[in-house]
Parts: sequence; C-alpha cells; structure tokens
Amino acid sequence: MFKFRKPLIAANWKMHKTVTESLSFVKEFLPLAAGVRDIDIVICPPFTALLALSMVFENSPIKLGAQDVFWANQGAYTGEISPLMLQDLGCQYVIIGHSERRHIIEENDLIINRKISAAKQTNLTPIFCVGETLPEREKGLAREIVQQQLEKGLQDLTAGELVVAYEPVWAIGTGINASPADAREMTGFIREQLAILYDRTWAEGVRILYGGSVKPDNIAQFMNEPDIDGALVGGASLKAADFARIVRLNDNGS
Ligand code: PEP
Repeated sequence: MFKFRKPLIAANWKMHKTVTESLSFVKEFLPLAAGVRDIDIVICPPFTALLALSMVFENSPIKLGAQDVFWANQGAYTGEISPLMLQDLGCQYVIIGHSERRHIIEENDLIINRKISAAKQTNLTPIFCVGETLPEREKGLAREIVQQQLEKGLQDLTAGELVVAYEPVWAIGTGINASPADAREMTGFIREQLAILYDRTWAEGVRILYGGSVKPDNIAQFMNEPDIDGALVGGASLKAADFARIVRLNDNGS
C-alpha cells in the first residue's frame, strides 16, 4: 500500500492509565513497534502522563500528543492546560473537538475553532475530529453535519499543518466500525470540503484519519482506502500488543 501522505496512527487513551501504567505500556510497546518506520505513531495519554512519556520518547520516533488544550497561553483559567504548556512538554499533536468533548463536555464549534487557532499559533498540529451521530446519519445529514463542523471549526484560520479525523459518533467505543465504503465516501467528502474552503493543493496534503472501533483485524481495510491516511484509535490502543498490531497494519512483522 503506497500513500503519498505519510500515514499517521494515533492512540487516544482517554481517561485511562496512571503514570505507572503508561510507562509499562510503553516498555512493552516500543520493542513491538521498533520496525515501523513509514508511519507516524502518536500517543495521546492523559495530561498527567505527558511528562513521563515525553522523557521516554526523547530518543524514540514515537510522537506525543495531548487529548485537549485551552485556547489561551496563560491566565486565570482554573484547571485548564495551555498550548504553551503542552509544547513545553514535547507535545507535537493535540486532539481537538473529540466527540466525547462535544457531547459530554458540550464543547461547541466556536470553542473548537479557538482551540485549533491557539494550537496552530503554538505549532501544535491539531487532530481535528468531526463526525455525525446515528440519528443524523439516519436522516441523511452526515455530509451536512461534517461540512458545518469543518467550516465552523476552521473559520478564519489560515491553511497550515492539520490532521482531520473522521469519527462517526456511532462507531466510537461501540465495536461497530463504519464500513470501509462509508468511511471512503466521508473522507473523500472531507477532502473536497477542505479544497473548497482553502485550495486543492493544500487539501491533497492534509492527512485524514478514520476513527471508530478500529482494531488490529480491520485497520488494513481502512488503510487501503485512497483518502484514509491513518487512524485515531481509542479502546484498541490501551493494550500494547493490540496497538502494535495496528501500527504494523496487522502484519506479523516477521
Ligand atoms: C476515539 O476515542 O477516538 C475512538 C475512535 O475510540 P474507539 O477506537 O474505542 O472507538
């Protein structure tokens, strides 16, 4: 499988793993992923484990990401974490607009737009999540919803380093992945929208991930799709052996 955009596979650990558990994951994972050279591997642990992992990743190709960020660099924002603080810890990526933050924490498109803007200004690459709910899909609104999320999330922002993750909400953590055909249709649509919002040359360079119940046994089918450049993986990234199979695209690597 040749991809002219370098594939990226990111682990979203959500609110899982203490520092000790994070370190033991990495100890097991690093040798298992040692042969993987042509894929960017990003691990997004909870904020509390970022420092410990950044020290371990210093001499490794694994990149560090955060699961969220605030939009200001400092100030009276109790409990928030700034882009500058993430950069200081060695983060290169940050997930923004994850459906759990949209639906549980009630983050809206304006907040997401501010966060993407702040991340870009600090040279953190946003992994910008978009995706429709099941009722929206059933009403035939998937494209419209994703188009609005892209337009509002990127409003007034210049083109630049960006990763978009298409994550249908009904596929996240449910064990029910989108079919490769549905994921192909939506990721192709996202690239078209990026070309309309900016320009085609830039849009062709943006990495678009699929997320939603990705597992070792289905990663290869998604990676074969022309507009899918990687995956955002939740549950299956929590076990080192499973995540290693995913970044090896389920190849046993022998
Ligand atoms: C996610 O957290 O972004 C995700 C896709 O979760 P899962 O792989 O568990 O569906």
